[in-house]
Amino acid sequence: MEKQRYERPVIKKLETNMPNKFGTQTELAPKTHIDNVPVKKLIEEFGSPLFVVSEQTIRKTFAKAKKAFTTRYPKVQFAWSYKTNYQNAICNVFHQEGSWAEVVSGFEYEKALRNGVDGKKIIFNGPDKTVDDLKLAIENDSLLHIDHLDELYTIIELAGNGGKKPKVAIRVNMDTGVYPMWDRFGFNYENGQAWDALNKIMRSNKLELVGLHTHIGTFMLSANAYSVAAYKLAELALGIQKKYSHEIKYIDMGGGFASKNTLKGAYMPGTDTNPTFDDFAEAITSALINSDFKPDKLPLLILETGRALIDDAGYLLGTVISNKRLADGKRTTILDIGVNLMFTSFWYDHKVTPAQPFSHYTENTVLYGPLCMNIDVIRENANLPLLNKGEHVVVHSVGAYNMTQWMQFITLRPNIVMIDEKATPHLIREKETLDSLMSYEKVPEHLKKFDL
Ligand SMILES: *Cc1c(COP(=O)(O)O)cnc(C)c1O
Repeated sequence: MEKQRYERPVIKKLETNMPNKFGTQTELAPKTHIDNVPVKKLIEEFGSPLFVVSEQTIRKTFAKAKKAFTTRYPKVQFAWSYKTNYQNAICNVFHQEGSWAEVVSGFEYEKALRNGVDGKKIIFNGPDKTVDDLKLAIENDSLLHIDHLDELYTIIELAGNGGKKPKVAIRVNMDTGVYPMWDRFGFNYENGQAWDALNKIMRSNKLELVGLHTHIGTFMLSANAYSVAAYKLAELALGIQKKYSHEIKYIDMGGGFASKNTLKGAYMPGTDTNPTFDDFAEAITSALINSDFKPDKLPLLILETGRALIDDAGYLLGTVISNKRLADGKRTTILDIGVNLMFTSFWYDHKVTPAQPFSHYTENTVLYGPLCMNIDVIRENANLPLLNKGEHVVVHSVGAYNMTQWMQFITLRPNIVMIDEKATPHLIREKETLDSLMSYEKVPEHLKKFDL
């Protein structure tokens, strides 16, 4: 048996904290392995901090989502939201599972092409598509989701130059009963902007209207909002059918399904409260099936869900730098994981688990990152056992957005490893080095020398 560790006794101050139905949150077991690979070994081999992605979890989560929709609706297509996590290895797992690509910039568009996605299976969203982006996407028969009238007129102009007929959809924003309403993207449903844009497309005769799109928000905690949105898009589609005898091919409900993370200030953990894929699927598919589409004329249903498919598959491993006490006696632990790597710590209380056995004496702890910045707080209040210098922690459910929104600030970005289904880790993105970063910089001749 391992020798028991001495822990210095402390007087424990009582603090108000957010309880859940099991009392205040305490991790009962250490997270020593990820998909059967020891955390310690991963850190030894690939360094700390380290992002780890579980291929098995991605595939399992995808299967759950797919089943929820395909058991309820005849024609379903997923499109992987590149900005949620565009590491090529991760995109390709989704493409292997049958997902198309959903991109929001020229950079992401070209990344999808280079990954080998057929242009016809790339959905191009976002407010900033340059003329060159549009030309390339039209040439490749990609699906252009128009955000504003200026873009619509540009596409009509490009279509006028001969060549291929652009395949377009419009993005529609609407009141779904969830506020604040996301009305900065696309055309509004209630005030008639959406109809106006559709009429302009149909009248131009130069574009092929193939679909209708909406993306009502992100981390949505109401499945019913999707039911309202699906109903409104169905109304538009049926209106076009009536007025122009034109059938659209698809309704794209965007993404925004909440993952299982816990929002800051939430009373209960997200695993207990957030809607499931089945809840979202039931809301969307019932609205479509109960609308006036003839049963054999139901449009293809496209889903661009991002975070709910990848959050749980991502872990961030880190190491304890030091322990100290704040002026008021509160325990703090400094980790080598900062908000530069974990953007989502600004709105989630991420679950943090020790990676080795620990004693059952816990204390409310602030977890700080390594940055020389006061805002570098990973958790303001985590009920944790004592973590010693050099020991490791595992932060859970960081798969969405952290590996794309991370910042190169003060420190360098770390390695990303994917563990395959046979428990073999693969390096999928190499850590930055001083050399790799310096390769972007240029120093003018007259600034190359100085005397101190
Ligand atoms: C970001 C985004 C998504 C994915 O959103 P999640 O909240 O990660 O599911 C889907 N569609 C569009 C248009 C987006 O901008």
